[in-house]
Amino acid sequence: MKLPELLAPAGNLEKLRVAIHYGADAVYLGGKKFSLRAHATNFTAEEIATAVAYAHQRGVKVYTTLNIFAHNDDLDDLPAYLRGLRDAGVDGLIISDPGILTVAREVTPEIPIHLSTQANVTNRESVRFWERQGVRRLNLARELSLAEISAIRQASGAELEVFVHGALCISYSGRCLLSLYLTGRDANQGDCAHPCRYLYRLEEEKRPGQYFPVEEDGRGSYIFSAKDLCLLNRLPELIRAGADSLKIEGRMKSVYYVGAIVRLYRAALDYWGSHGLPAPGGEALPPEFAEELGKIGSRGYTENFFSAPPGAADLLYDGPKLLHDYAPVGIVRAQGPRPVIECRNQFQVGDLLEYLGPGLANSTHRVDAITAENGSRLEKANPNSRLTLTLAPPPENCAPNGLFRKKMDSGTKNG
Ligand code: SF4
Repeated sequence: MKLPELLAPAGNLEKLRVAIHYGADAVYLGGKKFSLRAHATNFTAEEIATAVAYAHQRGVKVYTTLNIFAHNDDLDDLPAYLRGLRDAGVDGLIISDPGILTVAREVTPEIPIHLSTQANVTNRESVRFWERQGVRRLNLARELSLAEISAIRQASGAELEVFVHGALCISYSGRCLLSLYLTGRDANQGDCAHPCRYLYRLEEEKRPGQYFPVEEDGRGSYIFSAKDLCLLNRLPELIRAGADSLKIEGRMKSVYYVGAIVRLYRAALDYWGSHGLPAPGGEALPPEFAEELGKIGSRGYTENFFSAPPGAADLLYDGPKLLHDYAPVGIVRAQGPRPVIECRNQFQVGDLLEYLGPGLANSTHRVDAITAENGSRLEKANPNSRLTLTLAPPPENCAPNGLFRKKMDSGTKNG
């Protein structure tokens, strides 16, 4: 059985290395120009070249986003930028604007073009249209059911990419002006302020400043706020439907989120690769997959349109809650019985840390000593320091770019 590509977000070089460590087959990243997600710490030209070299050494592909809706002025620098991407060796250009597509075909015809989900491809004739424009791969709209994805597969030989995990818009991707209207920040230029997650109240025009709650519960109403997409349990159906690439959303998400989600989907794909696909409605993933999913932050999960159009249960009415029990505490910089980590969250001597090992193998270790770079012993580890850990038992399989996490005292945090 040919498994689909697992495509991960890389908001910066560190996330790229962690995504590759945990099993991404390909990553997507944005440069400083022409890319949505303006607030992700996008890559400079040198960083793109470094990223491509690092990924290619490990057999991983790199796709670059140029998915803004361009205005005339945006086009002036485009040819030079495209030539830079070609020289860096990127494997695909993710585009939504027909103007950018036209210039890309003229300037860098050798780089495959992938159509962004911003182009909202929802039917087989749209696929045929974009194929005629020279598009190699289409990232289908997130608003499709499994039956629609299967029907498009039957009608087209194009590469099909499907989002399987991450944040959702309440609009069709790219068809939302809420942020521009309310904050002046344009989602279609990569600058969304996420006002669909805000708390809304009602004000009567003759009573300025008096707010009438539109209550779903005591905290107010989050009428636009969608839960996160999760198709972890639907991978056999997507493989059978002929998806070529499974995409994880989240260039702005944390390095822990990227690593943990990539690891989970890698393990799930490998599980079905080694066990064979179950009969429809048959075997499910073993319980440790759901357990692991629960250790990664989310705003609650939905399968969106996969089986049926989403309803009230797929929206988050009681606040922009981020559910997470675990905090990342460090990224491994040097392996060994006493690993060196880059600290990301506080922890102290005596705490129990969990290492995210190969597959879904988690190992738990007590912190016996924390040593700073200057050799001094610390009781407490603080973020952004490089530390050597003495752990009991010593970790056996930790490797550079692997992650340690810690269970937090309270299970739910807002954020
Ligand atoms: S405001 Fe919400 S729905 Fe609109 S583009 Fe931003 S994230 Fe998507």
